[in-house]
Amino acid sequence: MNKNRISPIPFDFNQLYTQYMYSYPHKTAYRPLSGISLKDYGRQLAGKGHGLYLHIPFCQSKCGYCNLFSVTGQGTEDVDRYLDAVERQALQYGEILKENRTGFSGVTVGGGTPLLLSEGQLDRMFAILDGCRSAGGQDLLEGGEPEWTIETAPNQTTRGKLRRLKEGGITRVSMGIQSFFDRELLILGRHHRGEKIREALDLLKTFDFPCVNLDFIYGIPGQTADSFLASLEEALVFCPDEIFLYPLYVKHGAGMEQKLREGMVLEPEKAFLQYSEASSFLRSEGFRQDSMRRFVRRRLASTESNGDDGSRRAGREFSDCGFSSSLSLGCGGRSYLGKLHFCTPYAITREGCLAQIREFEETRDYTQIRHGIFLSDEEMKRRYVIRHLLIYPGLPLESYRKRFNSQAEEDFSLLAKWKKEGFLECHRAGDERYLALTQEGLGFSDCLGPQLISSKVWQRMKEWDKWFCTGDC
Ligand code: SF4
Repeated sequence: MNKNRISPIPFDFNQLYTQYMYSYPHKTAYRPLSGISLKDYGRQLAGKGHGLYLHIPFCQSKCGYCNLFSVTGQGTEDVDRYLDAVERQALQYGEILKENRTGFSGVTVGGGTPLLLSEGQLDRMFAILDGCRSAGGQDLLEGGEPEWTIETAPNQTTRGKLRRLKEGGITRVSMGIQSFFDRELLILGRHHRGEKIREALDLLKTFDFPCVNLDFIYGIPGQTADSFLASLEEALVFCPDEIFLYPLYVKHGAGMEQKLREGMVLEPEKAFLQYSEASSFLRSEGFRQDSMRRFVRRRLASTESNGDDGSRRAGREFSDCGFSSSLSLGCGGRSYLGKLHFCTPYAITREGCLAQIREFEETRDYTQIRHGIFLSDEEMKRRYVIRHLLIYPGLPLESYRKRFNSQAEEDFSLLAKWKKEGFLECHRAGDERYLALTQEGLGFSDCLGPQLISSKVWQRMKEWDKWFCTGDC
């Protein structure tokens, strides 16, 4: 282990883990909408290359750090009722997909814990997704390699269910491991144990899915850089294609919030050390670091662009991810249709999530959009920068100029500042010039990214926080 890898960081450690910017704007900036029909925005789904997401909001137990849209304690009938509603929704959406000849290049089933569904329910789920996929009349396989992803957890990974996933066309399985150490899993409030993880991974290996991703968490109270590395070393025995490393966040409404009030502490400085050691380790093991969280085994990098010295420069194809459309089925997932983003109202308590699920199940017209946000041109620029800058290959400067008729570095003075401070650098791939995070900048993504949030969106997010904390929401 290299004890001297970290240079002094230019931030207050308490700001280092401000916000995970996986999308923009955050759901807490959404507000009630009225008089909006999906039919009027269907053209955003015209042609190929769109994403389809299905949210399964059920879990065996609630992890201590989780405030995602998911509930526990739901039986077979509850899940069936939810699938009935998803089916009705998919049929209504199918009309719009047909009209716009929509083709999906990626389908993701997330949650929650999708594999909490029985084998029969999984079959039904695939039938619904297939119906959506074929509604637009486009062949998904034409002109690209579609990715069918599902999230799973060790306790729910059985031979029968994995067989269903294989038959259903899943190409990427993502498993939430978090740690191989029982004491760390206990602190996180995860229901599985190390032995179960090993069993599930052995099983998963026998099915030979094209891509297996494993998720881990660092910054767990009591965790050390050595124990985190030991978890990752053990993970490599199972030959994952991707590894995601998540810093521990304890957000409003999560069970661990109470433990923090009672004296448990999160130590961002230690978390950063763990991240730095893990990043060096995975890169030395042949993984390419695409973002602060994502590490990809090099053999997956089929589009090595400028194959240099084995650094993360060699890389993946550019995808214009700031503007692709994505349609969500179920309750709790987000849809992105151009400037219109929408989802069911944000809920994090069990009662709040259950109320949303019941409302979803009683909905008659799923094409009516009741909650979301319309992005201004200025917010669209921010979204474009945020979605590209934090993940390799970075922000395509020429594409930005063509799309917005302005220069990214003039629109966002922070970019020049970060370049000067060594967090960003330019590189060229093909005809495009990219602005990308340096190795140092990658580690600060959760501090840099939030600085790109507009004051208007911050304001809305703070309003939501205030409502939640005062019990007004
Ligand atoms: S972290 Fe995942 S498995 Fe745990 S409660 Fe949240 S959604 Fe469920």
